[in-house]
This record gives sequence, C-alpha cells and structure tokens, in this order.
Amino acid sequence: MSVVPLHTQHPRRFEENRFVYPVLSRRSEGISVGVNLNPDKVCNFDCIYCQVDRTTQSETRFVGVDQLLAELEDTLALAASGDLLQHEKFRNTPTEFRRLNDIAFSGDGEPTTYKNFDEIIAACADVKRRLGLDAVKMVLITNASMFHRPHVVRGLEILDQNNGEIWAKLEAGTEEYFKLVDRTPIPFRKILENITAAAKVRPLVIQALFMRVSGEPPSAQELEAFCDRLNDIQAASGKLKLVQVYTVARKPTENYVTPLADAEVDAIVELVKRRTGIPAKAYYGAAQP
Ligand code: SF4
Repeated sequence: MSVVPLHTQHPRRFEENRFVYPVLSRRSEGISVGVNLNPDKVCNFDCIYCQVDRTTQSETRFVGVDQLLAELEDTLALAASGDLLQHEKFRNTPTEFRRLNDIAFSGDGEPTTYKNFDEIIAACADVKRRLGLDAVKMVLITNASMFHRPHVVRGLEILDQNNGEIWAKLEAGTEEYFKLVDRTPIPFRKILENITAAAKVRPLVIQALFMRVSGEPPSAQELEAFCDRLNDIQAASGKLKLVQVYTVARKPTENYVTPLADAEVDAIVELVKRRTGIPAKAYYGAAQP
C-alpha cells in the first residue's frame, strides 16, 4: 500500500475544527497552534480593544475534551510535517516564519477560567510529547486574573515542565487606566499580585497593548506608572524576560479605539528598556503577518 501524504489525508481538517486553529503569529515568529478553551466567548475582562466578535453567539458553547485533543494531534502533525504550508492560507508564509513555534492557549476568553485547566494542560502536553515535539513551546496567553487558584497554579507548573511560557497581560500603570481599558471588577492590585507571584516562580513575558482611546494615546504619566509597576514586580523578586509592546491590528470591540503609530510603539519600547532594563519588542498596527 502506498503512503498517502498527510495533507491529502486531512486537506481541510483544521478548517472544520472547533477548538484548535493554526495561525501565522507575529509574536510567535512562526506557526502557532491555538487552543480555544472558551468557545462560549465568555471572559472576565471586557477589554475595549478585544478582537473577539461577541455580537454573534458561538454554536459551540462547551469544550469537548476528546475532540479538542484529536484536533490538536491532527493540527500539530500537519504543522510539524510542513504540510500545513501547502494550504492556501499558509502558502505565502515568509521563509523565516515557516516553523512551528508553539501551542497557544488563548481563544475567545480567558483560558485560566476553564474549570479543569490543569487537566487540559496536562492532556495537551501528553499529545505534544507523544508526537516528539519537545522543542515546541506551550504558550499561555492570559490576563493573570486566576493565577491564585490552586488548579491554575498546578496548570502553570505543568506548563513549566513542558517548555511553557506565560504571556501575562499588563497595559496600565494605574487602577484608573486599567479600569478604562480592561473593564473588569477585578482590582488592578489583584492582577499585579498574581503577576508578581507567578514571576517569582519562573520568568514571565508581559504583553502590553497600547492604543488611542477617543484619539488620545496613553499619557506620559501613565506610561511612567506602567514602568513603575514593572519595576515593583522586579523589586519583589519577580522575573520578567520580555515586554511585548503592541497595538490594535484588527477590528476592536469599541470604535473609539484606534492603533498607535509605529513611532509611538517604538517610543514605548525605548521607555520600557530605559526605565526597567527589561528587553522589549515592538509589534506594529499593520496586520501582517
Ligand atoms: S482578556 Fe482577552 S479575551 Fe478577555 S476581553 Fe480582554 S482581550 Fe478579550
């Protein structure tokens, strides 16, 4: 019997997926296989720049664990073999991005609110191990609001054991701006405590999205306060390995939110480096790749 190439076995499989979706990711600098633990689109933040379309209800409201793991295995195999790049959506991937970088837990809400977070992380790590993909990262894209919960602490430890990386959202220096942008009843202090506690255990990546709100970029004082908060975390022995400074690249929830210019993003990167000593990287508003 002849061997059928993987992409002809599952030519469009990932497009029928409900929980797993491969994307070309600027911040991953390669292919990132997304895992959506919040198909119901519910989130405990309501960020003014959120790019999840909540004007329509999703058909899928609950995570089907067996299906999610099957989709993950198929999609990782497609991406690792390079066959994914034959698909029309990925055919024009630039050479330097033609690599599988990570499995990313993000999706349509806050992944750590998933009730069996530790179990699903462990099961996904098993799939990765079975496929021999030890070099592939497991990235948690999170607002850090649930880090104090025991099953989330366990989930973070499982990530640590499986080439994990935590990208924690922090994009304000004051409670007032935090409330304006992230619109949650959770206090800013709680988020800072959670990030600090997690960063004491392993180095974290900070993801910081800045934007214009009704035409106004973040004030100089707010950006100084943002750097102060990063320094507070470091002063409490929290380790921060990178600050990703980015801006709106797709349609945001609120139409009064618009992107910063490239030079404004660059200026924030320079400020963060100078004030905190943490490496920082710019991602501009242009949508590609
Ligand atoms: S935390 Fe993420 S998913 Fe939730 S509202 Fe904010 S940007 Fe959207």
